[in-house]
Amino acid sequence: MRKIHVREIQTAIVNAIKNIHYHIRPDLKAALQQAGETEASPLGRQAIKLLLENAKMAAAGVHPLCQDTGMTILFVEMGQEVNVIGGDLEAALQAGVRQATEEGRLRHSISVHPFKRVNTGDNTPAVVHYQIVPGKGCKIYVMAKGGGSENASVSAMLLPSAGDTGVQDFVVNAVRENGAASCPPLILGIGVGGSFDTAPWLAKKALLRPIGQASSDVETAELEKIILEKINTLGVGPQGWGGSTTALSVAIETAPCHIVSMPVAVNFECHSHRLAEVKL
Ligand code: SF4
Repeated sequence: MRKIHVREIQTAIVNAIKNIHYHIRPDLKAALQQAGETEASPLGRQAIKLLLENAKMAAAGVHPLCQDTGMTILFVEMGQEVNVIGGDLEAALQAGVRQATEEGRLRHSISVHPFKRVNTGDNTPAVVHYQIVPGKGCKIYVMAKGGGSENASVSAMLLPSAGDTGVQDFVVNAVRENGAASCPPLILGIGVGGSFDTAPWLAKKALLRPIGQASSDVETAELEKIILEKINTLGVGPQGWGGSTTALSVAIETAPCHIVSMPVAVNFECHSHRLAEVKL
C-alpha cells in the first residue's frame, strides 16, 4: 500500500484553491482570446476584452477573478491501494478550504443553513464527491463554483421518447431563460442518464473536462457540437450584451439508466471557471 499523509493532501488543496482564484486557466484564456477574434458583436468583443483584462489584473494577486468565491467542490478519486495516514481525510480537505480562504483573502460565501442564513465564516464545508479507483494514485479536482451560474442549473426527468432532441431542447431553453444571468460566456456540463440523483452529478463532472475537449463517444461528441451551435445562435452573448459567444463549450457525460427514464441535468458554469486538478 502507498501511504499519503493528510498533511500532504491539505497543502495541495490550499495551494490549488489559492491559485484558481487568482489565475485564469490556460484553456479558458485561449478560448476567450479566440472568441474575441470571432465574436461579431462589438459589445460582445468589448465584454470579452474586459474579462481578459480582469484576468490580467487578478494575476497580480490582489483581487481575485471574481468576488463570488463560490462553493468549493472537490472530486476525490482515491486509488484503492492508497492508505491515507496521519488523520481524517475529510477533516484535512475541509481544513485546506479553511486555510486557503484565510491566506487567499477570499470572501466568505457559505451559509450554515439554507433557512438560517448565518455565514460559516471560512467557506466550509466544501462539497466532496469520493470515488474509489484502481491503483496507487490520488487525484483531486478542485472547483470554486459561483452561485450565479449554479442558480441557473436545472434538471428534469424526461421520457425516453424525448430522445436526444428532447435533451437539446431542454438545454437550449434553459440557456435562453437563464443564460444572461449566469455570467456568460458559459461552460455547460450536461448529465444524461443514471437515476434522479446521478444526472446532476454527471453534469458537474462534465465540467471537469478541459474546454473544447469532445466526448470520446462519437455520437455524444456530435450532440455536444449541435447543442453548442444552437446555444450560440440565441444571441445572449458575452455578459449578456449580445453576440454569438454565449457558450465556449458543452460537455456531456452519460450513464446507463432505467428503461422508462431519461434523467437530464445541465450545470451552468460562468466565465470565471475556477478549476484545478491535483495529483498526489
Ligand atoms: S456566476 Fe461566476 S462570474 Fe458570475 S458572480 Fe458568480 S462566480 Fe462570479
